[in-house]
Amino acid sequence: MILFQPIGSLLGATILIDPGAEQKFKDISNAYEVLSDDEKRSIYDKYGEAGLKGAGMGTGDYSNPFDLFESLFEGFGGMGGMGGRAARNRPMQGDDEAYNLVLNFKEAVFGVEKEIEITRLEGCNTCDGTGAKPGTKPTTCKTCGGQGQVVSSTRTPLGIFQQVSTCNTCGGTGEFSTPCNTCGGDGRVRKTKRISLKVPAGVDSGSRLRVRSEGNAGRRGGPPGDLYVFIDVLSDPVLKRDGTNILYTCKVSYIDAILGTTVKVPTVDGMVDLKIPSGTQPGTTLVMSKKGVPLLGKSNARGDQLVRVQVEIPKRLSSDERKLIEELANLNKAQTANSRR
Ligand SMILES: [Zn+2]
Ligand SMILES: [Zn+2]
Repeated sequence: MILFQPIGSLLGATILIDPGAEQKFKDISNAYEVLSDDEKRSIYDKYGEAGLKGAGMGTGDYSNPFDLFESLFEGFGGMGGMGGRAARNRPMQGDDEAYNLVLNFKEAVFGVEKEIEITRLEGCNTCDGTGAKPGTKPTTCKTCGGQGQVVSSTRTPLGIFQQVSTCNTCGGTGEFSTPCNTCGGDGRVRKTKRISLKVPAGVDSGSRLRVRSEGNAGRRGGPPGDLYVFIDVLSDPVLKRDGTNILYTCKVSYIDAILGTTVKVPTVDGMVDLKIPSGTQPGTTLVMSKKGVPLLGKSNARGDQLVRVQVEIPKRLSSDERKLIEELANLNKAQTANSRR
């Protein structure tokens, strides 16, 4: 795998990078999947644990049946032909890596492109990932003669039992290498890399993005793991999120509620005029259509902003106000009396 960094854009310097490499970089950073908790739950409800594994959510993701087979028998010291040298030297997939990303309210609503710095294991350049010091040749293990396994015989009343087990001297590899000075023999080194991440519109706390192949490098040339970006969204002081809808409470005076008015309401698109119809009852919810959060994966569809109207009744009245309200009360009484007649 080619690893590179778009150093030109990151350091502010005018270093040109190979345009092909830049394209590849973009491909990588966009190759993610988004799964919200709800989606995970619906996959689980439909398909159970196997469904989650199919969606890349399982921990034991066995890409071929032999991996599973081997992992079952690893504990038994490599039962005959399955374990031993060949399997010990087999490439192993790298571990997944996690990254916690904190977004502000609007970034989560509309999506954002973020530069993130991740630290993960990459293939060691000194030894080309082999773990052996360049220029040295591995020596064959004397205990097992390079087989990676040893056969021991036990005489019992029922006959001679032969048992094959992994060679303890070489750990089953059958050989000894002079470890690479850079990576200490692991073949991988911990490195920091900046990647550009396109966070889609509509993510929320608990969403996670999967960036394929940006996890830790595999051992002995195995494929890298994935990078999981766990998202946390900061709350907004006035706007509350409820899935794809945004909740807001607006206060209007009793007079405005009776006569109707237009108020300015904060939305994720900025301040927007909202018409309060005359005769609006306390606790009414007004819908500001399509002022909510874009649907994850369908950013042309949006939720609504739901505005709850809180009608304020004054605790104190001026004498003029009191007089007018009393007049209103008398008028009301007269009307009621008339209607009874
Ligand atoms: Zn090395
Ligand atoms: Zn050995």
